[in-house]
Amino acid sequence: MTTTQVVNPATEQVVTTLELVGADETDAAIERAQRAAVGWREIAPGDRARLLRRFAEAVDANLEQLAQLEVVNAGHTIGNARWEAGNVRDVLHFAAGIPERLLGNQIPVAGGVDITFHEPLGVVGVIVPWNFPMPIAAWGFGPALAAGNTVVLKPAELTPLTAVRLGELALQAGLPEGVFQVLPGKGSVVGQRFVTHPAVRKVVFTGSTEVGKEIMAGCARQVKRVTLELGGKSANIVFADADLERAAATAPYGVFDNAGQDCCARSRILVQRSVFDRFLELLEPAVRGVRVGDPADEATEMGPLISASHRARVASFIEPSTKVAFTGSQPDGPGFWYPPTVVLPDAPSDRLLTEEVFGPVVAVVAFEDEADAIRIANGTEYGLSGSIWTNDVGRALRVSRGVEAGNLSVNSHSSVRYWTPFGGFKQSGLGRELGPDAALAFTETKNVFIAT
Ligand code: NAP
Ligand code: MG
Repeated sequence: MTTTQVVNPATEQVVTTLELVGADETDAAIERAQRAAVGWREIAPGDRARLLRRFAEAVDANLEQLAQLEVVNAGHTIGNARWEAGNVRDVLHFAAGIPERLLGNQIPVAGGVDITFHEPLGVVGVIVPWNFPMPIAAWGFGPALAAGNTVVLKPAELTPLTAVRLGELALQAGLPEGVFQVLPGKGSVVGQRFVTHPAVRKVVFTGSTEVGKEIMAGCARQVKRVTLELGGKSANIVFADADLERAAATAPYGVFDNAGQDCCARSRILVQRSVFDRFLELLEPAVRGVRVGDPADEATEMGPLISASHRARVASFIEPSTKVAFTGSQPDGPGFWYPPTVVLPDAPSDRLLTEEVFGPVVAVVAFEDEADAIRIANGTEYGLSGSIWTNDVGRALRVSRGVEAGNLSVNSHSSVRYWTPFGGFKQSGLGRELGPDAALAFTETKNVFIAT
C-alpha cells in the first residue's frame, strides 16, 4: 500500500498520512461505478434532483469544516475557502435543477414523429488539480451526476482531503453506493486508468496544458469524450480612459488571489502608454498593501504556494536580468511563501509574458491603441480569461469581441459564476463547464424517429 503525506503549506507540518489507491482498486471502483450507472440513470428525475439537493445541504451543513480542511491542506485563505465550499453547495443546487429540465426536442418530419433524448454517457472520470480542489471537482461531478452518469474522481495528490470528505457527504446524503467515488492516488496510476479503461466514457481534466495534451491523445484511442481546462496567461487591459485608481487598486487581486495559482490569473497587465507611469505609481502601494500571511487569519488576503518544489519553479522565472519593479511582503519562518512580484519585461518573447508562472508574479507592459492591445493580448497560445478597463462602452465591447479568450470581464476581474459558461480558447482548453449547458457536456444526443 502506497501512502502520501499531506503537508500544510503554511507551516510545512505533516497534517495526515493517506493511503493511495492503486491500479487494481481503481479498476474495481470503475466497475462498481459501471454497475451503479444502470440504477442511477433509471431513478426518477425528481428523486435524482432530491438526492442532489440533499448532497448540497450536507455540504452546506459542513461548510466550515470543509473550509478549514482547505486552509490546512492547500493554504487557501479562510475567506476563499469558505467561498469555495459554498461554490460546491451552489453548483450542486444548480445541478439539482437539471434532471427535471433535461429537455429534448420534437422535430417536424414527414411520415412520423421525431424526438431527441439526452442520454447519460455512463461512467465519467474527473481529474482535479491542487489549486482549487473543491470547486473544480464540483464543476465536473455536479452536472455529470445530474445528467445520470456515475463519477469516479481523482483529487491531486497534494490536496485530497476535501474531496475525500465530499465523497463521505454524498453517501451520507443518500446517493447510492458506487454513484460518486473519490479515489486519492497518483495521476500516472489512477488518472491514467480513467483514460485507458474502456468503461470510463468521458474524462474531465483540469491541470497543466502538458498533461492535458497527453490525456487528449490517450482518449483519442477510444474516441473517449474529453473536457479540458488548462493553463492561462490572461491579460488585464487598462485603457487611458478607465478609472485608473480602481483599475490599479484591484489589479493585485486579479492576479495574486490564491497566490497566483489560478488558471484565470491576470498575469499580464497591459497599460495604455499615456498612463503607464501613473498606473505603476498607483499599483505600487496596492501591491505592497496585499496582506500576505497565515491563511487561517480572517484578515489575510494571500497565503503560501502549494509546495517547496512549486515555489522553486515560480522563483526560477525571476532571473538576475529580470527587471523587478517592486514586490509586496511575505512572512518569515516556515511555509512556502513567495511575495507578490511586479516585473517589467523588455521583450515580447520574455518567458514572463508567454509562460504560465502559476504564482504571484505579474508582468506589466505598455500598448499604444486598441488594435495594439488586442494584438498583445492574443499573442499567447492560451485564451482563458481577461479583463478590460475602460469607461467607453463601445470600446469595451469591441475589445471583448477581439480578445481570444473564453471569460472576459469589463471593469472587474470575475471569471467564475456557476450559472455562466467557463472554459478556454486555443490551448487553454476544450469544452465548457458550468452555465446553462453544463449537463449537456455529459450526455449524448439520441434521435428517435417513429413512423406513424
Ligand atoms: P498536472 O500535472 O497537470 O496535474 C493535474 C492533475 O492531473 C493531478 O490530479 C495529477 O495527479 C493528474 N495527472 C498528472 N499526470 C497525469 C497523467 N499522466 N494522467 C492522468 N492524470 C495525471 O498539474 P500540476 O503538476 O499539479 O501543476 C503543474 C502546472 O500546471 C502548474 O504549475 C500550472 O502551470 C498548471 N496548472 C494549471 C491548472 C489550471 O487550473 N488550469 C491547475 C493546476 C496546474 P497528481 O496530483 O498525482 O500529479
Ligand atoms: Mg504534474
